Amino acid sequence: MVDAEESWFQNTVDGLAHEAMAKYNKKRAIVFNTIQLYRHDRLAFLKESFEAAERAGYFLGVKLVRGAYLEKENKHAAEKGVRSPINTSKELTDKSYDDALRFCVEHIDRISVCAGTHNEQSAKLLTQLMDKAGIEANDPRIHFAQLLGMSDHLSFNLAAKGFNVAKYVPYGKVNELLPYLTRRAQENSSVLGQTSRELNLLTSEMKRRGLKR
Ligand SMILES: Cc1cc2nc3c(=O)[nH]c(=O)nc-3n(C[C@H](O)[C@H](O)[C@H](O)COP(=O)(O)OP(=O)(O)OC[C@H]3O[C@@H](n4cnc5c(N)ncnc54)[C@H](O)[C@@H]3O)c2cc1C
Repeated sequence: MVDAEESWFQNTVDGLAHEAMAKYNKKRAIVFNTIQLYRHDRLAFLKESFEAAERAGYFLGVKLVRGAYLEKENKHAAEKGVRSPINTSKELTDKSYDDALRFCVEHIDRISVCAGTHNEQSAKLLTQLMDKAGIEANDPRIHFAQLLGMSDHLSFNLAAKGFNVAKYVPYGKVNELLPYLTRRAQENSSVLGQTSRELNLLTSEMKRRGLKR
């Protein structure tokens, strides 16, 4: 899995990932590139990546994420006086993400996909698309992934239904992990983000158990 980073060096990362895919993904997808659907150009990029893989005869591996550097990207673009690469609304990002899932399932003979998301609607959509396409829950070409300590309700329920689920485990020295942990904390502070969703779930469960009014 090659992670996606800030847009100003993503082209280089994409180039390296595609070189590795052309070399190692001849029989199945082993190397995966990451596509950030908060960028307005990335659905087109997914389609171009698919066409390139078809032309060169290798399997495309993609991890689909919404994207982690929203504020940084917008600030960088504003400073440079250029258009931000980020969608102008969360709704547009959600639509791009779900369209990308649809595209991958439609082209599953050539694409392997890992849905790196904590968003219940997107995870549910992928299970529905798989069901509609007659794809088994444990098909090795489709994975779900969540970060350790986040969205366990998604990971556990998907795994219980037989879907392939991975949990990303950050490890390393504290000072090296701090930028990563800081990003997660920033993400969690957004109103539409993970913490509010998980807090709502925990609060309703506490109420159900009579531990909270
Ligand atoms: C397994 C895994 C691997 C990951 N790997 C990477 C990686 O390699 N690179 C990377 O960049 N990120 C990575 N992420 C983080 C990911 O990009 C998201 O930041 C995070 O998962 C939150 O998005 P969500 O899909 O879970 O759901 P949600 O909480 O529904 O979506 C939040 C996301 O929506 C987008 N968004 C929010 N507000 C707006 C707005 N106003 N306009 C446009 N878009 C908006 C942002 O991307 C924000 O992070 C990974 C996440 C997971 C679970």
